[in-house]
Amino acid sequence: MAKSRTYVIVGASLAGAKAAEALRENGCSERIVLVGAEAEPPYERPALSKGYLSGKEDRATLAVHDERWYADNAVELLLGRRATRVDRAAHEVELDGGERIGYAKLLLTTGSSARRLHVPGGDLDGVHHLRRVEDSTRLREAIRGGGQVVVVGAGWIGLEVAAAARRYGCAVTVIQPSATPLRAALGPEMGGLFAQLHRRHGVDLRTGHGVTGLRGNGRVSAVVTDDGAETPADAVIVGIGARPDTELAEHAQLSVDNGIVVDESLRTEDPDIYAAGDVANSFHPWYGRRIRVEHWANALRGGPVAARAMLGQRVVHDGLPYFFTDQYELGMEFSGWFAPGGYDTVVTRGDLDGLAFHAFWLADNRVVAGMHVNQWDEGIAPIQDLIHSRQPVDPNRLADTATPLADHLTGRTVYSP
Ligand SMILES: Cc1cc2nc3c(=O)[nH]c(=O)nc-3n(C[C@H](O)[C@H](O)[C@H](O)COP(=O)(O)OP(=O)(O)OC[C@H]3O[C@@H](n4cnc5c(N)ncnc54)[C@H](O)[C@@H]3O)c2cc1C
Repeated sequence: MAKSRTYVIVGASLAGAKAAEALRENGCSERIVLVGAEAEPPYERPALSKGYLSGKEDRATLAVHDERWYADNAVELLLGRRATRVDRAAHEVELDGGERIGYAKLLLTTGSSARRLHVPGGDLDGVHHLRRVEDSTRLREAIRGGGQVVVVGAGWIGLEVAAAARRYGCAVTVIQPSATPLRAALGPEMGGLFAQLHRRHGVDLRTGHGVTGLRGNGRVSAVVTDDGAETPADAVIVGIGARPDTELAEHAQLSVDNGIVVDESLRTEDPDIYAAGDVANSFHPWYGRRIRVEHWANALRGGPVAARAMLGQRVVHDGLPYFFTDQYELGMEFSGWFAPGGYDTVVTRGDLDGLAFHAFWLADNRVVAGMHVNQWDEGIAPIQDLIHSRQPVDPNRLADTATPLADHLTGRTVYSP
C-alpha cells in the first residue's frame, strides 16, 4: 500500500486550526484533515469566561477562521468526530465510526478538559464546568437573572466567572483551599491583590477551605465546606483546573508525563507525530527544561511551529509564556514563568490601589516574570525584554516610575527569540 501523504490534525481548536493555516502558508499542497470532537468549527475559549459569558461578545467573534476559510484552503473539517486510536505501525488514525485515515504526519492538539469535583453531589443539576462554548451559554442562562452563585476554585476561570456573575447582580461566594487566590500562578503577593479586588466588588471570598460535598434534591441547593458550613447555591461553578487529554498518545505508547512529551520543535519520539497547545509538554530551550503551558498564546504559536516542523523546517517553540485576564476594571498581561518558590522578591511599580502598575518577580535580582495592570501603552514588550536580557536589575530603581523600563536594559540582550 502506498504511504499516505495526508497531514492529519486531531483536535479542531486554536492550535489545530492555526497549524492547518501554517501548513498552507508554508507551501503544503497535500491533503489536510482536521478532526474535532466538538460540533463547532474551531473557536477561541478566552471569551467563554469573559465577554461571551457576560453577553458582550457573540458566538461569531469566537471563530478562529470564518467558515469559508476551510473550503477556500482545502482543509477538510471532520467535526463531531472523535479520534479513538493511533496505529503508528500502519500510519493511520481511527475515528469513532471505525473509519481510518492514513497520515504522513500527525499532529495531536487534543487540548485539555475541565477537572471534575469528586465529592458527593458533584454531578447534581446546576453544577457547571467551563470548557466549551455550550458550557458558557448554559452558565450564562443560569446566572443572567441573578441568584446565589458559588464558585469552587479561585484560579483564572473561577475569578473571571465570579466577576461576570457579579456583573449580572448575583451574590457570589468563592471557595478556595489555599490562603490566597492564584497562588500557583502568581504567588501570594499578587494573589492577595486579586483577593482584595474581588472583595471590593462584593465577592465573599473564603480562603483556607475545601469543598466536601454538594447538597440538593436533583438540583444543587448548597455547598458544604470542611468547616461544616453550608452555603446556599442556585448555581455552582467548578473551576479547579484542567487536565491534558493525552489518551490517544498513551495508547499509542508515546511518552506522556504531564502532557505529551515533545522536543523544542514539538515532535514526539515518533518522527511523524507532533503535539502542540495545552496537551504538549515541550522542551523549552530558554528554561532548559520541559514546561506545559495552558494558555491561549501557547496554542496560537505552537500550532504553526509544529506545522513548520512537520514540513521539515528547522523551527523552535521558545516564546515566553504569556497570559492575559480581564476582571471588573482590571485588565492584565503576564509573561514569564517560575516553578513554585522560583523567585525571591516581587517588585511593584506604580499605583496598586488605582490598578495602574507593573509587578516583577525577581530571582537573584533578575526578572523571571512580570505583569502589567492597565498599562496598555507600554504593554508586555518591555517586560519580555527585561526577562530576555537576563541582566541584574536594581529593585529600587525598578520600582521607581521615574526610571523608564528601557533604562534597565543597559547592556547587550543575551538571547534573541
Ligand atoms: C473558559 C476559558 C477561559 C480561558 N481564558 C484564557 C485567557 O484569558 N488567557 C489565556 O491565555 N488562556 C485562556 N484559556 C486557555 C486557552 O483557551 C487554552 O490554552 C487553549 O484553548 C488551548 O488550545 P488547544 O487548541 O491546545 O486546545 P483546546 O482548546 O482544549 O482544544 C482541543 C480540542 O480537541 C478536541 N479533542 C480532544 N480529543 C479529541 C479526539 N480524540 N478527537 C477529536 N478531537 C479531540 C477537543 O474537543 C477540543 O475541541 C481559557 C480557557 C478556558 C476554557
